[in-house]
Amino acid sequence: MSRMIRLICSLVLLAITCAAQTSGKKRVAVLDFDYGTVQSYVSSIYGSNQENVAYPSGLCAERVALFYWGANHPDDPIEAMAITARTDEFLLTKPVTSCGSCLQVLAEVEKKQDKPIKVILYAEQGPVWIVKGIENQLPFLFFEERLTT
Ligand SMILES: [Zn+2]
Repeated sequence: MSRMIRLICSLVLLAITCAAQTSGKKRVAVLDFDYGTVQSYVSSIYGSNQENVAYPSGLCAERVALFYWGANHPDDPIEAMAITARTDEFLLTKPVTSCGSCLQVLAEVEKKQDKPIKVILYAEQGPVWIVKGIENQLPFLFFEERLTT
């Protein structure tokens, strides 16, 4: 099974089991690693949107996975991040891209590891979009060193 098919299968299974009790919109992300470079033998990190009745207190799937990575495996470079969304209300025909906050976090992770991340955006009834490097999704990145002299 190819690596990308394995990631997409993981996404589909994760989306089925994801609890999105508030919005009904399920969002999941899987981080994938280059097996030759990992230090802690991590193969995948999973994230799902975490909702809260106090709506802004929740967090997107991408940041759940990326913050878990930052807390537990910061020295293992991320090779790819596969993302999908699902709702029982209708079928998605195009991938749903990440929000600005998640893109900013992804930009900082890429900068920290000094290696672009392949982002795979999957829709059950649509194309698979593959974007390598955050600058292709967020061309005017915000980095604080621009604010210093
Ligand atoms: Zn987000």
